[in-house]
Amino acid sequence: MYKLSLCEIRDGLLKKEFSSVEITKCFLDRIDRYKNINAYITICHEQAIKSAEESDKRISSGDARTMEGIPIGIKDLFVTKGIRTTSGSKMLENFIPPYESTVTQKLIDAGSVFLGKTNMDEFAMGSSNSTSYYGKVLNPWKIQEKLVPGGSSGGSAAAVAGHLCAAATGSDTGGSIRQPAAFTGIVGLKPTYGRCSRFGMIAMASSLDQAGVLTKTVQDSAAFLKVIAGYDEKDSTSVKKEVPDYESFVKKSIKGMKIGIPKEFRVNGMSEDIEKCWRKGANILKEAGAEVIDVSLPYAKYALPVYYIIQPAEASANLARYDGVRYGFRASGKTLDEMYENTREQGFGDEVKRRIMIGTYVLSAGYFDAYYMKALKVQKLIRQNFHDVFEKVDALLTPTTPTSAFSLENEPKDPVTMYLNDIFTVTANIAGVPGMSVPMGLDSEEKPLGLQLIAPHFREDLLIQIGSILELNANFPTLKEIL
Ligand code: GLN
Repeated sequence: MYKLSLCEIRDGLLKKEFSSVEITKCFLDRIDRYKNINAYITICHEQAIKSAEESDKRISSGDARTMEGIPIGIKDLFVTKGIRTTSGSKMLENFIPPYESTVTQKLIDAGSVFLGKTNMDEFAMGSSNSTSYYGKVLNPWKIQEKLVPGGSSGGSAAAVAGHLCAAATGSDTGGSIRQPAAFTGIVGLKPTYGRCSRFGMIAMASSLDQAGVLTKTVQDSAAFLKVIAGYDEKDSTSVKKEVPDYESFVKKSIKGMKIGIPKEFRVNGMSEDIEKCWRKGANILKEAGAEVIDVSLPYAKYALPVYYIIQPAEASANLARYDGVRYGFRASGKTLDEMYENTREQGFGDEVKRRIMIGTYVLSAGYFDAYYMKALKVQKLIRQNFHDVFEKVDALLTPTTPTSAFSLENEPKDPVTMYLNDIFTVTANIAGVPGMSVPMGLDSEEKPLGLQLIAPHFREDLLIQIGSILELNANFPTLKEIL
């Protein structure tokens, strides 16, 4: 039962093949059994069963809502009323939010069951889930090799891949949905900036952060996104735009579509495995009747440096609120200043401190023009590149990551090497366009590889349509069981 996709669970519940309480208990048992994966920071045993019971009542009275009784995981940066929300940090270890994020409210209103809050890199900064204060997360693939699940939505990815929930929410500022999806062999969709409300999402870099979904199938992503997308008056950057019926685009013909292969994504030293996977994807699209053409995004090579200026700048401003007074953790100190200093010294981990320092540096009076303003200018050029390329093609196809999952042991020790993980994903955030990672194959070491599709603003329907064709023909082996 736990191997079923979100849409299969939806159908099974409506046909009364099993109850929501049964499937919820099944996932909760697995979460307890596979504690070693560490996918969840907080598990909501009682609350999940209670909401499953309510869902079962609604299903039997013919009152089922769109996600009625479906057990899901919630990344621990969506604030959930009355449920501890940590953002992977010691700073928020005891933070019980008094309000609900819009995304989770929509999921509650659609009838879904929250199994718990998933592990993540501290304040969503990281690419391997190793910066979490709540411990590292194991990739369910080849578990004996102790691979990382990617990050920052590493707990959500591991929970979906390891069948510890039907699907999970994530957030993506520079790749945090797509990179872990690729590492764990699942689908990850980052919508257009403004497609989903950021209200109640603990902010990292506000101009780049976007909520999205991690699922077993492309159709699941379509169904899940439909629930969480839409304008919200509580977030002035969310956009007033009709939310299409994404599921109706699943497996729709792509005959005559034009798909671009951006040459700037063919980086030096790319492995033959990744090249092969990319060719495989392009061939699938050609065989399905699309035209695959080479295109260029000349400024894309600057996306990573631009990201690592804008992201820390905004993060340093957002994280100023953790002062020991307003939220969560407080250390003692003889004076007010000393209390601030001790709180931030003890409450934040190394990566967070590093970003705060970089951010305050690039925003400081002497360097603002040289770094921050310059980065904003290059961001404009990158956006223009996308605008131009989408006059010629419907979507782009690229690898999601430059490598497959690495082991905890072989984790890059220096931060800059770690940042290179995001080289193919950050571009979409810098341009604000939607991107999706689809599992495509295994590399020579039998580790999952994903391909990324990027579409114009608000064309998530194209991602679903093209992604479902890729998925249909990729013959990607689903993880049958955690070994
Ligand atoms: N890995 C990137 C970073 O560390 C992206 C994180 C994210 O998308 N939240 O900033």
